[in-house]
Amino acid sequence: MRHPLVMGNWKLNGNKKMVSDLIDGLRKELNAVQGCGVAIAPPVMYLDQAQQALADSQIVLGAQNVDVNLSGAFTGEVSAEMLKDIGARYIIIGHSERRTYHKESDEFIAKKFAVLKEAGLIPVLCIGETEAENEAGKTEEVCARQIDAVLESQGAAAFNGAVIAYEPIWAIGTGKSATSAQAQAVHKFIREHIAKKDAKVAEQVIIQYGGSVNDKNAAELFAQPDIDGALVGGASLKADAFAVIVKAA
Ligand code: PEP
Repeated sequence: MRHPLVMGNWKLNGNKKMVSDLIDGLRKELNAVQGCGVAIAPPVMYLDQAQQALADSQIVLGAQNVDVNLSGAFTGEVSAEMLKDIGARYIIIGHSERRTYHKESDEFIAKKFAVLKEAGLIPVLCIGETEAENEAGKTEEVCARQIDAVLESQGAAAFNGAVIAYEPIWAIGTGKSATSAQAQAVHKFIREHIAKKDAKVAEQVIIQYGGSVNDKNAAELFAQPDIDGALVGGASLKADAFAVIVKAA
């Protein structure tokens, strides 16, 4: 039985006061939530502060990125073991902003996936098509290619306990979410694509939707059979809106 997971991606936002206030707000709003995993991914700078502020809550710490290297001369990078050491569990990889601005390839992201699994952390693998690809009818082809980079290098078993976030790029931060029917169709495709290799793994893998999820559209998205919660950007920066989304899941 899959449990939904709602995760907040704070991106490059925040300062010490905001981290403290937002986590206080989330703890108040979400202290009795059951049946849904909740995680937040603050900027790496504030992971330690966030972990301390989350002590004894059910909200789990996540992070927004990881390096493929374990240690050494890689200035500015953060390793899987460091994230584990600080208490992070869910680690976002392959976000479209990193694919675009940092030119991260499918193969490079697959390496990050392997490094996280090796460290006992949970990859949240973001996939999704651009608007042009969507209009050209290439959504399934793009999602399959992005998943195959992991499937073919590590096998379907690598998705055991992992999370996929389907995030159509045209829906991220635009206020223009995919409809629940559009998202469900792609989620079903993703699950069936993995099921061709391993039906059990496909059945249990959490597939989140991401892209302008808010307190108004969350319930309808989560009512779809293959949508297991959400990866939330903008709306995760407000405790009350994020709480409504979590409760809808
Ligand atoms: C995201 O960046 O992962 C995201 C889904 O952003 P937003 O919710 O703001 O569209």
